[in-house]
Amino acid sequence: MINIKSFFGFGKNNGEEPIRSAGDPVCGMRPAHGINIVHEGVTYTFCSEHCAEQFRKDPKRYAKS
Ligand SMILES: [Zn+2]
Repeated sequence: MINIKSFFGFGKNNGEEPIRSAGDPVCGMRPAHGINIVHEGVTYTFCSEHCAEQFRKDPKRYAKS
């Protein structure tokens, strides 16, 4: 029996913590397509490499706990 969530790499906590998604916390946009960075279980979608780089430099500044 294939666990579809495990197959795709989701649900590493057996689904107890749902995968959350957030927009671009640097500029506040919510782009439909962009650069995805997963930080502490939250997928952030950045509008541009510029915003993604800002986040990479200091994720704690932008990440919501
Ligand atoms: Zn942005």
